[in-house]
This record gives sequence, structure tokens and C-alpha cells, in this order.
Amino acid sequence: MELYELTAHELLDQIKNNATTPRDIQQSLKEQIERVDQKVHAYVRLFADGLNAIPDPQNACPIPIAIKDNMCVSGQETTCASTILAGFVPPYDATVIQRIKTQGCPLIGHVNMDEFAFGSSTETSCYGPTSNPWNLECVPGGSSGGSAAVVASSESVWAIGSDTGGSIRQPAALCGIVGMKPTYGRVSRYGLIAFASSLDQIGPLTKDVRDSALLLNIIAGPDPMDSTCIDRPVPDYTQSLVNDVRGLKIGIPKEYFIEGMQPDVKARVLDAIKLLKKQGAEFVDITLPHTEYAVATYYIIGTAEASSNLARYDGVQYGLRKQPDHLRKSTLVDMYEETRSRGFGKEAKRRVMLGAYSLSAGYYDAYYLKGLKVRTLIKQDFDKAFDIVDAIITPTSPTTAFKIGEKIDDPLAMYLSDIYTISANLAGIPAISIPCGFGNDGLPVGLQIMTKPFDEEMMFRVAYAYEQNTEWHKQRVQL
Ligand code: GLN
Repeated sequence: MELYELTAHELLDQIKNNATTPRDIQQSLKEQIERVDQKVHAYVRLFADGLNAIPDPQNACPIPIAIKDNMCVSGQETTCASTILAGFVPPYDATVIQRIKTQGCPLIGHVNMDEFAFGSSTETSCYGPTSNPWNLECVPGGSSGGSAAVVASSESVWAIGSDTGGSIRQPAALCGIVGMKPTYGRVSRYGLIAFASSLDQIGPLTKDVRDSALLLNIIAGPDPMDSTCIDRPVPDYTQSLVNDVRGLKIGIPKEYFIEGMQPDVKARVLDAIKLLKKQGAEFVDITLPHTEYAVATYYIIGTAEASSNLARYDGVQYGLRKQPDHLRKSTLVDMYEETRSRGFGKEAKRRVMLGAYSLSAGYYDAYYLKGLKVRTLIKQDFDKAFDIVDAIITPTSPTTAFKIGEKIDDPLAMYLSDIYTISANLAGIPAISIPCGFGNDGLPVGLQIMTKPFDEEMMFRVAYAYEQNTEWHKQRVQL
């Protein structure tokens, strides 16, 4: 394998054994990006010093990383793939960026995403779509589609994404890599441009489970700058990678194996369950009875929070400012209107309108408040399930990657691609997607493992045990 195809832990071993140097790794990635990004269109901005600066030999982890375009990097334009943030240069680093920098990982650049993370395909980006490295006519998933695509195409060793309703796990599944959403409160959101503040979490997208644990070690932990980030010690997650599931109880929720699911996706997930059974895990049928309300609940709470968070983009403080050209004299309100009409894309406008509606006087109780109540019921379903099982296994996405353009004019079809991932955000629990094979179309399929809050260790243990007995994570795309 070429250097750019290796995992972070393999590269760290090679550096330790003097088989390679941080400089060689940078060079190898640089050439790979030059060769394939014209096909994949994943980077929206390469940082000048990312792969060019000479790394300090004292750096603990000199493995280059790609960053989703919604995390503030001091001195680098950060836009959330939205025209409204064009020209916005944050004066500070997000906490995760600061932690990554402290480890000495060079930041390669910002990668593409759906505008403000609204979407499941990366097509709503103001920079245009990113391609799935496994089939360039297909979407990489979203909203962290750029993060998943650069790892799958070996244009980065690993990447950071954010997940509000599935935005790390669904693209990881569609691109055949590992993506994990930590427990709400495990990783600081300071400097993550907010979509829905009670659902957003930052997490790693990597080539295998060990890298996922390594990157979570770096980014997790309390932060005085984010009061929702829990003050709880961070274990060394690599200690959970033990390849032993004997005696573990794993739940299969009946509500997740439904009609409409691609038959070959279902078959791959059932194969994975069979394999884990052979390794000694015990499977139990469970029920999460409120699952059918998850999508509706998510799109009420998520849009309500998004509409509040997006109110700050008014042309005054951040990014774009537009005056109407047709008026000789324009007021402040005219400027707000013109800026927001031109700065936001279609999906962002749809979310602002939906959210403002469900929060408005007279509708608040019927929609938003009811949404919060159903969210509690969904959370209680999981609490009950985790009284009897150690982990829950489901598919990550009902289908493999779809074609660019196929769902973009049908928001409901797009929203339904998150049916398996949304509940973990509503319940605040950790969840990981790992590769479990390929569909009949030759595209990757993902397996989702969920555990109780702050039990990332159990999640990694099950994921690692499965991975160590398969070869899926070793497949590399040739572009
Ligand atoms: N696809 C979902 C949405 O459009 C989830 C996005 C996300 O997790 N950021 O809201």
C-alpha cells in the first residue's frame, strides 16, 4: 500500500520505526490530492501551511487531518458551505481544532458539506456537490460528505465531521469508512457553527476503529467554553479494542428492519449479526416503540433550533452583506432581506421557515413542545433497552449511495435517508457506523452500533471485534 492509503496508527508505527517521516506522509497526501480531488471535489479550501509546513519532530501525532467547513479555524475562511458566510474569517480556533493542533496534526484544509449541515448528500453546498469515491456519479452522503469522501479516496488519513441527525454516520456508511458520533456532551461544540444546539456533536471519520478511538482520545473531554460539555474524565479508548464479544448481549430492534430497506443492505447487516453470534455475542429481539416518530420529531426540533441559530446571519456581523440594487435608498430591513434572500440556499430557507412556524405563538405547544415530549419518550425507549442489552445493532442507512440529483428535489425522500441515525441524536447516545460489505451495486454498506450514554468503550469493543474478523475496512478505492 502507498503511504496515503495507511491508517493513522499504521503511520505512527512507521514513524516510530523510522520507516517513514511526517514529511513523506505530507508529500504523499499532497500528490494524492492533486491527482484525485479534481474527480471527487471534496476540498473547498486547502490551508497554505497544512501539507507544506515542516512538522516539529516533537509532535505527538503528526498525522494530517481534514476539517469540515463548519469548524472555526483561526485565520482561515470558514463558511459552512454557505454564501452567507462568504469572507467570514474566525479570529479563534474551535476547541477541537485547538486540541488537534496541540497534538501536532497538520490541518490539510476545509472539506465540503451540505449548507449549514442541512442535508444527506452534500448537494446543498454553495460549492457544488462532492462525489462518492466508489462511484463518482453517486453522492458521498451528508452532511459530512467531504469528510467521508477524503478518507475513502485517501486524500486525508482521517477527518473531523459533525452529526446532528446522522451527518457523520450516514456518509461514513455510504463511503465505506468508520464514522462515530459521541455521546452528547462528550466533545466540546465551542467553535462549531451551530445547526441544532441540543443535537450537534463533533466526531471522527476514519479508515478503521482504532483510528476512531485514537481521534476521540484527542478531541473528547470537558471544556469551560461549552457548558453542555460534561465534566467527566476521558478514558483511553484504545483500551476497549479487545476483540472479544463473548457473553455480550446485543439488541436488534424490530422497528429498524422495515419495508423499503434495500434487500442487499438488509442481507449484509444480517450477515454481520451472524458473524458476531459466531464470535460469542448473544442477540435479543428488542423494541423501540417510538421509532416511527423519530423523523417527524427531529425535523420539528432540528428546524426550530436551526431557525434560531440562523437568525444571527443578518449581514451585520458575519460574512455577506447585500443592499438591494433596485432601490435608490434602502433601509436596514431592506439590507437584512436582501442579504438573507441571496445568502441562504433553498434548503436553509426551508428550515428557517419550518422552524419559525413551529416556534410561533399558537403553534409552539402543538409542534415544538410536543416534539420535546416525544423526544423524551424516544430517550426512554433506549433507557429501557439498555437495561437488558449492552449494545444495539441496526443498519446505518436504508440504502447504499444514490445518484447525484436523484433526491435533491424531493426533500421528504432525502429526510428519510436518516431514519436509522436520527434517534441516537434525539436520545443523546453514542453511535458508530462501520463497513459491513457491499451492495449488489458494488457500493459500501454500513452497520450501526449504539450504546448507552458515555459507554463509547462498549461501542468500540463491539465495533472492533467485528472489524478484526472482516476485511471490509482494508478495501481501498482506486481512482
Ligand atoms: N440529514 C439530516 C438533516 O438534514 C442530518 C444532518 C446532520 O446530521 N447535520 O438534518
